[in-house]
Amino acid sequence: MKSLLNQPIEYPNEAYSDAQGVGMTSQRTRNRLVERLMALGITDEAVLNAIRVTPRHLFIDEAMASRAYEDTALPIGHGQTISQPWVVAKMTSWLLADGPLHKVLDVGTGSGYQAAILALLVDEVYSVERIEPLLLRAQQVLKQLRLNNVHANVADGFWGIPSEAPFDGIVCAASPESVPQELLDQLRVGGRLVMPIGGTEQGLFGFVKTETGYTEDYLGPVMFVPMLSGIET
Ligand code: SAH
Repeated sequence: MKSLLNQPIEYPNEAYSDAQGVGMTSQRTRNRLVERLMALGITDEAVLNAIRVTPRHLFIDEAMASRAYEDTALPIGHGQTISQPWVVAKMTSWLLADGPLHKVLDVGTGSGYQAAILALLVDEVYSVERIEPLLLRAQQVLKQLRLNNVHANVADGFWGIPSEAPFDGIVCAASPESVPQELLDQLRVGGRLVMPIGGTEQGLFGFVKTETGYTEDYLGPVMFVPMLSGIET
């Protein structure tokens, strides 16, 4: 594991050199976050490396940049939050646990951070957000990082993206009362869905689609923003 932090920093494109950050947003600070995630039991090297190279400070307001590499959720406006790095690492690791994925749906673009992590790990990322101003901000950062394999749009994630289904994986960062049938329907057989379920008490669940239904894994207690219907402009 130690070896990971000695590997060269390899962002897949030249955008990275402009975005590296200094002081509290530096590579050293990102490395410390990765060490913390490793201490918390995250072992997937590809996921850890994606977190190590991705400038999380660009996905939040500049006024909060010095807190970007704390392992906490942070406000991104409109009553929403950028997910806690440990949660992103946990969900992404679970999603990839059965092998590489080609096409993934990310429900709740928010800041765009989860989509940016996925962009380094899978071929195509489709991301939907119901609050238009958040989506526009996220699109700018994803463009700045030249993550051209992320296709982010305003939409209500309860409906998935029927025209792009089936997906190999779906990750959702907002919590509904029960698992949306549309999301399960839009997985291929063997496809994986990871998301919080519940209201004031939430659990993180992983679902794997089978020929006849799906299997369900409980991954632990979590606290996400609620999943809401409809679009806000
Ligand atoms: N993945 C994001 C997490 C943002 S918080 C990140 O890395 O920053 C979850 C997001 O889900 C919020 O921005 C919220 O507006 C959005 N959301 C809630 N319900 C939704 C729905 N039905 N469809 C799409 N997005 C939704």
